[in-house]
Amino acid sequence: MNNNIYSLQEDRVIDYYINSPGVSKAKKQALRSIKSALLSDFRVYKLLGQLGQFHQVASKISTISESDSSTLELLYGSYLSKSGVRKDIFSNELICPGCQYSYATLRSTLDHFLPSSNYPNFYVFPLNLIPTCGDCNRIKNDVIPMSKNDNLPHPYFDKKLFNKHWLKIEISQVSPLKYSFNVRDELSTNDIYKVLNHLISYELEDTLFVHVDSIFEQNDEDLKDIFDTCGERGVREYILMLKQGSYISPASENFVPLNLEYAFFDALYQSDWFCNQYYMD
Ligand SMILES: [Zn+2]
Repeated sequence: MNNNIYSLQEDRVIDYYINSPGVSKAKKQALRSIKSALLSDFRVYKLLGQLGQFHQVASKISTISESDSSTLELLYGSYLSKSGVRKDIFSNELICPGCQYSYATLRSTLDHFLPSSNYPNFYVFPLNLIPTCGDCNRIKNDVIPMSKNDNLPHPYFDKKLFNKHWLKIEISQVSPLKYSFNVRDELSTNDIYKVLNHLISYELEDTLFVHVDSIFEQNDEDLKDIFDTCGERGVREYILMLKQGSYISPASENFVPLNLEYAFFDALYQSDWFCNQYYMD
């Protein structure tokens, strides 16, 4: 994700506002007086972001006055598009990191990863602006990490994590089909916290159930027919085909960490009980 995002120069962004003809003298002056503090705050963000320590940011950045905060808010609202930053960000990324569905650029929003209500310092900081679908942006809103285990995966700093499959699904041995979500074993403890925080802060669990139910509904009858004619082996071969068909390599630009089809077909394939027993009358 966002391989070119680092090319957005943060001092260039502030200078853009300072030099824009429509910005009042008073606001330009206000920006000039906080510019070096903001640039230092941006460095803190980058450093702690790379370390996955966003919970420490609050204690290490400058205090922004209410009037400077509203100046930054106004500039963000009025000039972000004109500055070209919005376009640069969207030219890098078209998938919402929350729900991970593709979406049309025009209908998408930018989420302040560290919420602007608590961190006005990062109103216009490109690395804090994450293309997000409107729904996920509304739900996530003001999630603030207070301790190490509260950190969310950041799409720009946790690229490696966004290149791994996150989900494991486990089939329960009951009929009608029941399953639960888990996190894949190969993730580190730290990454597991991040993934769980992600699922919670975007309220994704219910959505995941709805989608997996519909994937199963689409295949249920076919699987039953196959079981009736070809038995367990046929079912397994068919599921393997579905599993392979839904696999997307982390190297592909279509890769998403929450690949529900893949996680679900993998779970069915691994379940001897499902392949042997589920369709027995
Ligand atoms: Zn979304």
